[in-house]
Amino acid sequence: MPATLHTLIRAALLADGLGGQAHPGQEVLVRDGRIAALGAGLAFPPETRIIDLGPVCLTPGLIDGHTHLGLSGDGRPYAEMFAESDEMMVLVGARNLQLHRDAGITTLREHGARNQVGFALKEGVRRGLIPGPRLQVSGRPITCTGGHFHMCNEVADGEQEIRRSVRRLVHEGADYIKIMASGGGTAGTLPGLASYTTAELGAAVHEAHYFHRLTAAHCRATDSMRRAVEAGIDLMEHAEFLDPDGELRFDPEIAEMMAESGIWISPTLQAWTKYGRIVMLRERRALLSPAEERELQQLEARAVLRLDLLRRLLDYKGMRERLVPGTDAGAGAIAFGHLDYDLQLLHQTGLTPAEVLVAATRISAAAIGAEKELGTIEVGKVADLTAFDGDPTRDISAFSRVVAVFQEGVRVR
Ligand SMILES: [Zn+2]
Repeated sequence: MPATLHTLIRAALLADGLGGQAHPGQEVLVRDGRIAALGAGLAFPPETRIIDLGPVCLTPGLIDGHTHLGLSGDGRPYAEMFAESDEMMVLVGARNLQLHRDAGITTLREHGARNQVGFALKEGVRRGLIPGPRLQVSGRPITCTGGHFHMCNEVADGEQEIRRSVRRLVHEGADYIKIMASGGGTAGTLPGLASYTTAELGAAVHEAHYFHRLTAAHCRATDSMRRAVEAGIDLMEHAEFLDPDGELRFDPEIAEMMAESGIWISPTLQAWTKYGRIVMLRERRALLSPAEERELQQLEARAVLRLDLLRRLLDYKGMRERLVPGTDAGAGAIAFGHLDYDLQLLHQTGLTPAEVLVAATRISAAAIGAEKELGTIEVGKVADLTAFDGDPTRDISAFSRVVAVFQEGVRVR
């Protein structure tokens, strides 16, 4: 639904996603859903619709690299969430799409749903049946027998079956390939153990790249991280450095391999730290029971461990430029609508607010292969834009105060 007429969007501040601080006095002229001109005091045709947003900061629309739209993110175990019908998952997904869009996210990756749920949601948005951000869908994640998310029904063992899975998913409309390289939160799987060999992951990469599709691998286990890099996976999810004994141990050799390989990483910090719960407990701090107070202290101590690990990884050359924010929304108790939590956590690992904005826009667009169309406010790009109360290049809390969202130049919030 691109805007057919010209639209001129005015905002007190504009941060283009290319880096640095926001600039005052900028205007964006949109034509046919794309940015036609950018600057101060632009000339525009007489019939132009003018939207003056006032004292806000306009940025590129945010990108969430990791979501599970069919899951409700209400804290129930996977066994219960997956007891729902596919039809119910599509309805949950339609609601989740709206929550994310209202939070300023204009593009997201659907990172693994059951059967046709992911494809149906993408088609629903494309046809305008349901509102939602632009979607890249993986369809179903490829996993080993009994592996993480085997309930999604794309089980493959051995190189041959993995190649067949990639071909099937591409045929059904997958925009990229997601593969589970280690166990995870699915009952019966071991997150500290790799679930595929390097050769198996390599088969997925080879086949996906043949069809011009990127790959993303779920890697909690340290071993799975090594294998993903060796196999040439494009984007590594989680990257927890988890050993088989359940402990997190930084491995400088693997960090070095990651830095040299140029792999993208999406550390899904909100998921690991249970940050939503931390925020909720902190808000009620004065009223907490002793048990809740203990829980909060334990969660905060645990979060420090995880953030420290990422901080060490980001010291390696180029890693800060390869960082992709992702919520893992839908899983566990991670509700949709809170990419801001991950952005706060990235700030806590040492990124400036301006660097965080670039990670959630330009860098994320590049990581998902959409840098020609999305991720920055530049002439020729799609006019997907978000406006915040406050300046997110200086104040990280501004990411939680979305006041307007534009998709292809049309205001949708
Ligand atoms: Zn996930």
